[in-house]
Amino acid sequence: MKFGCHISIREGYLGAAKQAAALNASAFQYFPKNPRSLSIKEFNKEDSALCKRFCTENAIESVTHTPYPTSLTPRDENKRNKIIESLLNDLEITDACGSIGAVVHFGKLISNDDRLASYQLMIEMLNEVLSQWKGNCKILLENNAGIPGSIGTTLEELAQVRNLCDQSEKIGFCLDTCHAFASGLWDGENWNDVLGRGIELGFFDHLEVIHFNNSKYEPGSGKDRHANIFGHGYISEKQFDQLIKSPQLANIPFILETPKEEVPHNEEIQQLHEKWGR
Ligand SMILES: [Zn+2]
Repeated sequence: MKFGCHISIREGYLGAAKQAAALNASAFQYFPKNPRSLSIKEFNKEDSALCKRFCTENAIESVTHTPYPTSLTPRDENKRNKIIESLLNDLEITDACGSIGAVVHFGKLISNDDRLASYQLMIEMLNEVLSQWKGNCKILLENNAGIPGSIGTTLEELAQVRNLCDQSEKIGFCLDTCHAFASGLWDGENWNDVLGRGIELGFFDHLEVIHFNNSKYEPGSGKDRHANIFGHGYISEKQFDQLIKSPQLANIPFILETPKEEVPHNEEIQQLHEKWGR
């Protein structure tokens, strides 16, 4: 099992990888650049190459998370172009560091009367980015939190958007357990249904990473508030146990995005290794 957490790049990309190793993590996530901006980063190629080598040598897997303003359903042309440029820059950094892919949130509803418009715009955005992307790493679509009825909360939507893209082989998935719980996709008791549906849709064939988070609110609350895994949220240890033991998830990295102020990451990763490591 690969367990890890989100790590800052304050000490650079190699620094982040070394910090992961120091936390006894076998996987990590990082922002490729400033998480609050879409500006292009002229990154240090030596640092990224050293990060890649260190991760290969130490069997550490990683993903990046695109900056917060990255949206696959931007409101205007100007924003759209900025996001496409920024995403290509993120992919370049992700690839140079040897990471699996760059996580992007599923888009938002842009019109209440025309739900299809949002999916269409997402597909156009993905097609435009991927037609220019020649590297190895993928775009990883993440399921949204949000009340049932908002978009990007179901496995069907993730699988369909991927299927409808020109270069679907460059798209994988990220499943966030808190978002799944908040949206009501997984209410803690229906994992077998989620699993069965995901297998039917081919979702698990393209799942590359799990964001492993507990939820501060009850299932279907629509609230995206992450909690620590053990004893801090509404998802019980038994419910996580059922999910994590699914053979479909055996080789997928589990990455914590939990509050480290409440439980330090090294402790929480240790708890994961003790409970589910093998
Ligand atoms: Zn997440």
